[in-house]
Amino acid sequence: MSDRKRKASSPEEPVCVLCGRAGGDPDIFGRTIGDGSVCTHEFCLIFAHIAFEERPPGEESMAFDHAVLAHRVKQANQKQCCVCGERGAAITCAESGCERSFHLPCAADGECITQYFGEHRSFCWEHRPRQAAVAAPAEDTSCVICQETVGDCPSYHTLVCPACTHTWFHRACIQQHALNAGTVCFRCPACRDSTVFCTEMSTMGIQIPARLVSFCQTVQMRRRERWACLPTDCCSRPGTRLSHQHVPQLHREAKNGGGVDE
Ligand SMILES: [Zn+2]
Ligand SMILES: [Zn+2]
Ligand SMILES: [Zn+2]
Ligand SMILES: [Zn+2]
Ligand SMILES: [Zn+2]
Ligand SMILES: [Zn+2]
Repeated sequence: MSDRKRKASSPEEPVCVLCGRAGGDPDIFGRTIGDGSVCTHEFCLIFAHIAFEERPPGEESMAFDHAVLAHRVKQANQKQCCVCGERGAAITCAESGCERSFHLPCAADGECITQYFGEHRSFCWEHRPRQAAVAAPAEDTSCVICQETVGDCPSYHTLVCPACTHTWFHRACIQQHALNAGTVCFRCPACRDSTVFCTEMSTMGIQIPARLVSFCQTVQMRRRERWACLPTDCCSRPGTRLSHQHVPQLHREAKNGGGVDE
């Protein structure tokens, strides 16, 4: 158990006081915030509802109230994670009367969600929002992003576009797509709806970062410079740029290649 929690690769690597993890994927944890005495993650702070202030560039990361953090850590130490069973679970289900808490990195395993907007509410597996009933996917329906089959009804792992109601995808696939696309470019890969689609995906716990707003333009630009679309590449057809499976890779390529404002 403690194996999966304490993941410091070296003894000196500081561990987040709210989730017990060192380092971590910024897509899941946000930035790591440390000021020498205490270390935590941006998203662990946000979902534990601990306010922090952005400081101007050049200054030491972000400012938060140490007393508030210490108090929340103490509270969390009395709560057991409903997923891994360990103490120190700082994120609490927003459903009134529900006592379940969890660690940020345990959320996916436990089918719990965190909402990256508004009050930044979180929900346990039982109380997480469900997509309104739509027709079940036809047999052998595949994920529009990875082409693997999806489950036979909406679930934690299987989501559907609320606008066209017939485009299905895996949570992990649409999450990756959202991280690549950002708020400006994120839409249903098939019907291209953005308003209803974004609202519903955010409610379901998909993180749609605002920081990558110029991503599509960047990708578009780079592609013109040096990408030759494959024959199957719908990028070459106007208006379908984000609508097929290789796009996440393409975006990631651009991300790693730099030249993208973050
Ligand atoms: Zn953390
Ligand atoms: Zn846990
Ligand atoms: Zn709950
Ligand atoms: Zn998929
Ligand atoms: Zn759609
Ligand atoms: Zn393409």
